[in-house]
Amino acid sequence: MNRRYTAPMPTELRHYMRAGQHPSRSVACPHCGAAEHKPCRVMSSGRTLEKTHPARRSLWAETTAVCPRCQVEPGTPCHSDGTPLNDQVHARRYLEAEEMAA
Ligand SMILES: [Zn+2]
Ligand SMILES: [Zn+2]
Repeated sequence: MNRRYTAPMPTELRHYMRAGQHPSRSVACPHCGAAEHKPCRVMSSGRTLEKTHPARRSLWAETTAVCPRCQVEPGTPCHSDGTPLNDQVHARRYLEAEEMAA
């Protein structure tokens, strides 16, 4: 019996493709050096990535959103009790940025 089965494309994937690029592409990537509005790349192979690097998303959140956790303005890095979080933002700031971009 030669049963042919064609799997339907998962809904999330289709949604993702239609949604296009992540809003964090509006900033340059500090990790792989991708310019603004360009996709992230794997540095060793030069292959482009559909997702953006976490460092880029952190930078984007830092640039566009206030942090609900540590109450800093856009452009100011997050801190934890006065100690700067290097290259990181609080999770809630990231959510804030996503909401503003939606
Ligand atoms: Zn990147
Ligand atoms: Zn914060």
